[in-house]
Amino acid sequence: MRAIVRAWRAEGKRVGFVPTMGALHEGHLSLVEAARKECDAVAVSIFVNPTQFGPSEDLAQYPRTLEADLGLLAKVGVESVFAPSVEAMYPAGYSTFVEPPQVAVPLEGHCRPGHFRGVCTVVLKLFQIVPADRAYFGQKDFQQSLVVRRMARDLDLPLEIVVCPTIREADGLALSSRNRYLSPAERRQALAIARALRAGSEEMARGERSAAALRSMMRDILHGAGIERIDYVAIADPETLDEVATLKRPAMALIACHVGTTRLIDNAMLG
Ligand code: AMP
Repeated sequence: MRAIVRAWRAEGKRVGFVPTMGALHEGHLSLVEAARKECDAVAVSIFVNPTQFGPSEDLAQYPRTLEADLGLLAKVGVESVFAPSVEAMYPAGYSTFVEPPQVAVPLEGHCRPGHFRGVCTVVLKLFQIVPADRAYFGQKDFQQSLVVRRMARDLDLPLEIVVCPTIREADGLALSSRNRYLSPAERRQALAIARALRAGSEEMARGERSAAALRSMMRDILHGAGIERIDYVAIADPETLDEVATLKRPAMALIACHVGTTRLIDNAMLG
């Protein structure tokens, strides 16, 4: 893989890289599209990374649809797909991990201990294997994009991190590989997440500046839809993810909650 990418670069091609866990949807494809626009050759990785899943999480059930994924990527046109085995990425004796930056501590870091350690480790490994000029990530996983950006800066990684907007269904639901776990009734419930984010943004536009008031309104919308298990409804500084008390400038609203047995996350900029 590295030889392929180095050969492209030796030809003067700008290389784009889109890391994914597969079960591809329009959200992933929008990253590929952005990479195709801005680069001369695009590589996509498909790897369900075990080290970013907690012991009680959905690693075993996570959708694996390699054939369909390759079909989609062939249709949009990418130069190379890297889909390694777990044994190739983590052979016997593997024991090196990346200590994630500070921005990995709250929110997902709090709810999913070890998650960003696994993310940073696999992303750093993938960047070594696919030495691209630019790597593309989605705002859907906003904290992840901050963590990867910070790691790239802190560790002097020689590539640019590009973050692309969240792709949604017409009714607002953010596309996610995990949406395919949802029953029709759960899918309707899940719409409350985007609704809560929209309401937060509208209230802010109407002049509400208290983060506590906005959080409580967003929680009410989730509860009203029957979503009981809320991991967090946060309004945070978009760079540090520190909780904000009063919205003096744009802030990020982030939600993580369980719909049935499926854990979903979403976010939106307020202001
Ligand atoms: P995943 O396969 O879930 O690890 O996601 C791979 C990449 O696709 C990550 O950078 C995600 O943030 C991005 N992504 C996932 N869902 C969406 C979406 N709905 N819109 C834009 N990007 C997304």
